[in-house]
Amino acid sequence: MANERLTFVLTCTECKSKNYYYAKGKKKEYKVEANKFCKACGKKTLHKEAKASK
Ligand SMILES: [Zn+2]
Repeated sequence: MANERLTFVLTCTECKSKNYYYAKGKKKEYKVEANKFCKACGKKTLHKEAKASK
C-alpha cells in the first residue's frame, strides 16, 4: 500500500510486441523511447513506453 509502483512495458513500434517489462515509481513522467532488440522482428527497433496493467 505504501509503495505504489506502476508497471510499464516497452513496446516495439514496428510489430507492437511487448518486449520489456519493468516497474518504477510514478515520479518521472517523461516517456521512454529506446532502441531495443525485438525478438519478433529479429532486429533492433524503436520501442516506446506504455503503461502495463499489473
Ligand atoms: Zn518488433
